[in-house]
Amino acid sequence: MSAARSNQLRKIGVMGGTFDPIHVGHLVAASEVLHGFSLDCVVFMPAGDPWQKTSEAPAEDRLMMTSLAVAGVARFAVSRLELDRKGPTYTADSLEMLADFYGSDVRFFLIAGADAVLNLSTWKKLDTVRDLAEIVAVSRPGSALDEFRASDDLPKVHVQHIPGIDISATEIRDRVRRGRPIDFLVPREVAHYIAQHGLYSAPAERSA
Ligand code: ATP
Ligand code: MG
Repeated sequence: MSAARSNQLRKIGVMGGTFDPIHVGHLVAASEVLHGFSLDCVVFMPAGDPWQKTSEAPAEDRLMMTSLAVAGVARFAVSRLELDRKGPTYTADSLEMLADFYGSDVRFFLIAGADAVLNLSTWKKLDTVRDLAEIVAVSRPGSALDEFRASDDLPKVHVQHIPGIDISATEIRDRVRRGRPIDFLVPREVAHYIAQHGLYSAPAERSA
């Protein structure tokens, strides 16, 4: 089997995000695309210094929570690539580094929620993204994927419908702040980490 596989292109899913914190919406999306597109693996790539928004938990904590969430899950992996780069992190730059690392017999599938894909035209260095990857847009409650319009300038976009999980990291942070449960919305180990490190319990900076 390994001999047969070695001639095939490897298909690698890449899931970028702030993961502040990682939750079941991210994990179900990655799992659905892993199976739906017969990917070899999915690499979760927490953003170091997100250019479109700020994060609340420090990058190293977000990386730790992501690692805890995928530990022991077959075909899920985590990369700290974006944490170790200074300055704003663009998906295109990360894809270039991944392409260097994995070599030429790889196809990348960028996994992104409907909200992110509807913003696709605002992404930086879109030509690079288009050259290196295809995008898999996963459905997300509240974001109408059918409003997305493909164009030759944009990367190729596939659509994957997944069970609707109406949860966001913003809501998880809000729940922690209000003392409401986050059980089953994030993996158990992530809930422990948040409690142990006192993440998200202080009032949000923007409302202070
Ligand atoms: P925040 O509320 O802080 O923006 P988030 O829940 O949107 O957090 P991100 O880290 O911003 O999480 O998202 C990373 C990727 O995962 C994005 O492409 C986003 O669209 C997708 N995603 C997040 N939550 C879901 C969900 N519930 N269903 C489908 N896709 C999701
Ligand atoms: Mg988001």
